[in-house]
This record gives sequence, structure tokens and C-alpha cells, in this order.
Amino acid sequence: MSSSKRQCDGTNYITSTGGLEYLMLWSLVRAATVSETAYDEPKESLNELLLELQKGDASTASWKQSITEGCHCNARSMKDNQNEWHVDNQGLLRRNGAAYVPNDPAVRQEIIQINHDDPYGGHFGKAKTVEIVQRKYYWPTMGRDIKDYVRTCEVCQKMKTPRHRPYGELQSLPIPKQPWESVSMDMITGLPPSADADSKAYDAILVIVDRFTKMAKYFPVRKTIGVVDMAQLFHDRIVYAFGTPASIVTDRGSIFTS
Ligand SMILES: [Zn+2]
Repeated sequence: MSSSKRQCDGTNYITSTGGLEYLMLWSLVRAATVSETAYDEPKESLNELLLELQKGDASTASWKQSITEGCHCNARSMKDNQNEWHVDNQGLLRRNGAAYVPNDPAVRQEIIQINHDDPYGGHFGKAKTVEIVQRKYYWPTMGRDIKDYVRTCEVCQKMKTPRHRPYGELQSLPIPKQPWESVSMDMITGLPPSADADSKAYDAILVIVDRFTKMAKYFPVRKTIGVVDMAQLFHDRIVYAFGTPASIVTDRGSIFTS
């Protein structure tokens, strides 16, 4: 997996992983990992997804079967010490405690992305990304995949170039020159109400997109959310993580914050 077109934010994965066949899976992965960061344990929903993937992968399934039956005659991977592998009580195949990720480019890419591009830690370097990912996940080509990913990460490449914000361009909407300099904010409404684990009901999704990287953040909200709560959410989830953008574009026009 090395595509120079790929970006860290995930927007190009669909093209870089072969097209439509991964589209559904990619959106499932995105939903399963949407709030995982480098500091979190994998979410339950991601473990469920990995379990499904493992079930659907014939070689993984036979490997699991040989482990659970205590038969070490399966020669699937002679290089690996079989004692390192176990099947947890959920049925998830693990190596040294890390969940095994079958050969699915979309899922592997997404796992690298959420752990490389951490909202609180910025973009980690190769070694740090490997360290974080291998604490939680395992696949044989992980080191190479992460190296390729970090090397071709457009955000990382751009961050190496010195730059400053343009001055005095308030007449028209400036084209952003760096991540989170300008964001767009839209509310998706008309959704059936849904509740989270705390039984808070939501009926809308606030979508905040970084206009530079196209990275989108989705927040469940009530469509009647007030300005104060909206500002609080924006501060806690965007400003705290990425800094104060110079402009916010909404469908009612632009708000310049500086
Ligand atoms: Zn990066």
C-alpha cells in the first residue's frame, strides 16, 4: 500500500484501496473507529469488525481453529512462534495480546491513520506510530505499511515546509494553506432521533470539515443546540485539538475568528 495520492485524513482511501468494493467497509471502519485515538484501547465496535473480518478470512479461520483445538500442525505461519497466539474469549485471534488484522487494506489503513494522525498529538513519526499501533494490533507487514503511510502522508510533508498565514485577505475567502486554518461547518438535520449510551437523544449531526485536508469530524447534536453549547463543542473538540481556525465557513457565510 503506497499511494502518493493518499492523505492522512482518510479522504482518499476509497481511491487508494481499489474502489467501490471497500466503500461499505471503509464507512463501517470509520464508524467503528470514529472516536479512537492513539491513547485509547480499540473500541468494542472495532473489535466486532475485526472479528467479522477474521471470520470471513479462510486462512485466519483455520489458524484460529488449530489454536483453539490445541493442534499446532497448521503450517500457516511457521515463522511465528505459535505460543504467541491465542484466541480471546470474544473469539478474536490475538498475537501477544494484539488483535490480528486480516489482509484488508481499508481496515489496515484506517487503523494506521487513526493512530498516526492523533487529534491531540498531531502526526506522529514512524517509530512512534509503530509503537502505538503494535500495542493494539498485529499484522505481518505492519512495519512496512506504517513506513509507507508516514512517508507519503501529505499533511506530514506539508508541515515540513515553513509557512505563515496570509495577511489581509479578508475580501474573499482565502484558500487555506495549512490544516485547520479554515473549517466549514454544516448541520445535517431531519434524522430520526437516536440515543447514546448515556441516553442523550440526538437528532442532528454537526459536520466540521478542515478545508485544507478535507478531514471531517462528526458530532451528534440536537438541532436546537444553542450558540453557547455550539461554541463549547467547537472549543472542546476543534480548538483544543487543532487550534483556532482563522475562518469558519457556514452556509450562512463566513465567520472570521481573527
Ligand atoms: Zn501525517
